[in-house]
Amino acid sequence: MQQNKLKSDDLDLHNLIAKNQFGTFFGISQKKFDEVWNKLTNADANSVVYISMEIGADPDVFHPIKDKLIDLEKTDSMDPRLKQFIKKLFHGPEKIPCYGGGLGVLAGDTLKSFADCRIPVVAVSLLYRHGYFSQIVDSKIGQISQSVEWHPEQTPGLYLLHDPENPSEPLEIQIPFFNEYDQETMASAQVWMKMEINHSLDYFVPELLLDFSLPHNPAPIRDAAGQLYNSESSIIKATQRRMLGTGILPVLEVMGITSNTLHLNEQHGVVVALQLIAEELQTTLRQPDLSKATDDQIIAAADKIAERLVYTIHTPVKAGHDRFNKSVYAGISHKSCSHILELLAHDEDSPQSYNFTTLAMRVNRTANSVSRLHRDVTHKQFPGFAKKITAITNGVHHLTWISDARAELFDSFSELTNWRDNPGVLQNVKNLKNNSRFRTYLLRAWEEDSAILYDYVNAMLLQHRNQMTSTWIDPPNHYSNIIDGDTKLDPAVFTVGFARRFSTYKRADLIFDNLDTLCSIAVENNWPINFLFSGKAHPADEPGKSVIKLILDYQKELHVKSKGLVTLIFIPNYDMLIAKMMVAGVHIWLNNPKRPLEASGTSGMKAALNGVPNLSIMDGWWVEGYHEGLTGWKFGHEGPVDEADLSESPEALLYAEDSASFYQTLPKVLEEFYEDEFRSRFIDKAIMNLCLNIPIFNTHRMAAEYLQKYQLKLPSSLQSRMDDFAALYNSNE
Ligand SMILES: *Cc1c(COP(=O)(O)O)cnc(C)c1O
Repeated sequence: MQQNKLKSDDLDLHNLIAKNQFGTFFGISQKKFDEVWNKLTNADANSVVYISMEIGADPDVFHPIKDKLIDLEKTDSMDPRLKQFIKKLFHGPEKIPCYGGGLGVLAGDTLKSFADCRIPVVAVSLLYRHGYFSQIVDSKIGQISQSVEWHPEQTPGLYLLHDPENPSEPLEIQIPFFNEYDQETMASAQVWMKMEINHSLDYFVPELLLDFSLPHNPAPIRDAAGQLYNSESSIIKATQRRMLGTGILPVLEVMGITSNTLHLNEQHGVVVALQLIAEELQTTLRQPDLSKATDDQIIAAADKIAERLVYTIHTPVKAGHDRFNKSVYAGISHKSCSHILELLAHDEDSPQSYNFTTLAMRVNRTANSVSRLHRDVTHKQFPGFAKKITAITNGVHHLTWISDARAELFDSFSELTNWRDNPGVLQNVKNLKNNSRFRTYLLRAWEEDSAILYDYVNAMLLQHRNQMTSTWIDPPNHYSNIIDGDTKLDPAVFTVGFARRFSTYKRADLIFDNLDTLCSIAVENNWPINFLFSGKAHPADEPGKSVIKLILDYQKELHVKSKGLVTLIFIPNYDMLIAKMMVAGVHIWLNNPKRPLEASGTSGMKAALNGVPNLSIMDGWWVEGYHEGLTGWKFGHEGPVDEADLSESPEALLYAEDSASFYQTLPKVLEEFYEDEFRSRFIDKAIMNLCLNIPIFNTHRMAAEYLQKYQLKLPSSLQSRMDDFAALYNSNE
């Protein structure tokens, strides 16, 4: 994305090198680096630690330093040190595969907005040497998962920190683990720092990624360290949670970070609360033997340390809430933990388990859901905590997700000046609604983005066919048998995008419930449709994987029944780059989860930020982003939220009802897209997404709402800027 014009004093690239006792870093001046570091290490503790199991912030979708160097035409240097940094930046890996889906991408987007807004935040997560997993798709088998090999050493923006005492060695922290006999084994972790540098290169948020995959660690630790959401056994899963949760305080201490507030992005890192409670007991009771603490003392300590924690719950779906069998957890933690967990992590459904969601709900000063509807659901699920659970609706990082072509459009209109620093400016698009130049440029930008997406898809389809003999993988798409120089997919055809994790509640196969009805809509009106689908199922999620297989199996039948008018394509190995191409290049974004199980959803916001209308079930954010006749279409069940609705069993997933509603709605969308007399209404909807939804569903506004919970003292100019973002919306209405 083009940056604003540069000042000449920025020209010396040596000014983009900064150092401290932990290493040498590229992309920000020493002065700015020190400013950030001082805030995080200051005795006033006026900063926040953001804790997340996964962070999605791939350099291929947001790369402010690279953009700046291209702008300056400085893509090489004679200075050997600079040469190394620049080489990494332009030729290093562009993915950091340590995320599985929306939760991680949200974390990355949030941290980028904190950096843009200059809020003192440091993040803690894990570094997974084998990433999440890489997805190969074979039409006969379905999803095949492969472990990812990637090289953090070669990845730009990522640094292995040095031990200040011994700079030739990496910094290591030591974490005690225990076996079932309470014997201690030490595990160590090295610390990587990913710098989330903002687009004006004057602030950053450090992400501290703990790497436990060291050869001298015990085998069970290394097993748990390799792969995100490894669920081979409950021990591995619990160990992974403990690596995150117990790693936090030691890494902050060794780095001198003083933050008072800890924000739990989901409960995965909540083990930190056990440690804070233990520390509190030791300081107030001066009693090193925790097993002597009474119930009352533990409760008092928990209430005290709760003042430091902010908790965001992200899903009503049970699989998202960690519960561990008591004996499993006792097998990896100190015996005093059991006493604390007995008191604070009671599981109502299963007395032999600890429930970490209960623990996180119990021990915090404030908790929030990620949309208004999700707040109401969470109140029903946790009636005892309902009073303190508010809503902060998710957002997405506009500088990451708005395509280059759309950004250029915004840059061409003086009404939208400063939209990069203030996404609220996009409200002014309402004055451009009838500006024919704006409408024409928008369509042109859209066509450009569709062309980029289709170039990718057509090349992929050919490649799958051509590599068949060398890889033995059956091309996942039926269309690979059809495509050639003359026949390829046409970007002007109405294109429906659907991409996200393949969990059964997200019902990727919903709209194919009745292929005859679907095809007849296309055939009777001669309306061609391309469906582009993408997404991974967790490798252990058999029902999720079988939905992917179903999607592949429908392709040929759809093609035949629709006389070639309907094409369904599956794009393997979904990631942020594919997401970015899809949300800008398609004509409608489809989301059809079972209401109310999609707590928020963010991919639809990414589409909306590019002016792509949504066609969605009234769930998650869409309840707030949908405006009748203005921003898109809704369909499906919309009843009140009650306990029965939370079921994920197949018979409760409402396929018949919601797909029938889809078949009634789809022709209205196609009519507006294809019929000249209605076409302007389709463009109107695109424009209304820009002016109604960009100012709200962005992470600057969301960060401003979190800031109200963080209790930070900020300089008044900064605070008033954040107040302006917060004033754009009140999630908790
Ligand atoms: C945005 C995003 C998601 C989240 O999609 P939802 O529709 O909110 O589930 C998942 N994966 C990737 C790669 C994304 O970019």
